[in-house]
Amino acid sequence: MARKLAAGNWKMNGTRASLAEAKALASQFPAPKVGILLCPPTTLIGAMAQALNGTAIQTGGQDCHQNTSGAHTGDTSATLLADIGATSVILGHSERRADHGESDALVRAKTETALAAGLVAIVCVGETLAQRDAGETLDVVRTQLQGSLPDTIDADKIVIAYEPVWAIGTGKVPTLDEIAQVHADMRSTLKARFGADADALPLLYGGSVKPRNAAEIFAVPDVDGALVGGASLKAADFSGIVTAL
Ligand code: PGA
Repeated sequence: MARKLAAGNWKMNGTRASLAEAKALASQFPAPKVGILLCPPTTLIGAMAQALNGTAIQTGGQDCHQNTSGAHTGDTSATLLADIGATSVILGHSERRADHGESDALVRAKTETALAAGLVAIVCVGETLAQRDAGETLDVVRTQLQGSLPDTIDADKIVIAYEPVWAIGTGKVPTLDEIAQVHADMRSTLKARFGADADALPLLYGGSVKPRNAAEIFAVPDVDGALVGGASLKAADFSGIVTAL
């Protein structure tokens, strides 16, 4: 995965008609200087990968099961995602952690399975508002990082996304100093565990990134891009973020 990355997470939004937005985005960036990824709902991954075939934009999933195959009704494995054209998968998003009780250990298992299937794993971490108010942000992020990642890493195959839960979909964003502090701490935590390999790991910020605030967030040291929810649904919005990167 490119070191600089704009990743869009459509969450449980979008229909087949929304593929027009993906195509519009691709036509605006025939040769982008940064990586661009769209992660639509599972039902649209195959059609999006086909629609974007031959363009610079990649398609990803929003979750995968920790097993490669088997009796898991309703679930989707990393192998199945890869089979329909996904190149990446978001793992441990706070909505998965909250809605489905996903633990760090489960996110780690999913990460290992995704990597084995050849996907790039975008591993999400971030504190809740209560944890922030209690001054626990750095501790929470360190613990999630340690628990959600495998023992060895390949900087081309893993991306970390710092997404404060209270900033997701709320229009609220930490101060630039706060983002800088968390990203610097993540980098040193990762370097302490993985050595120099961690220097090349892309660290994304996510949570209410919009065209209007993207440039200042991307100017923060150790911010290598963004994981974008709401503003990734429309090509007109997402293109402003891609351009700022
Ligand atoms: P948001 O979502 O950009 O709508 O705040 C970000 C995310 O959940 O990845």
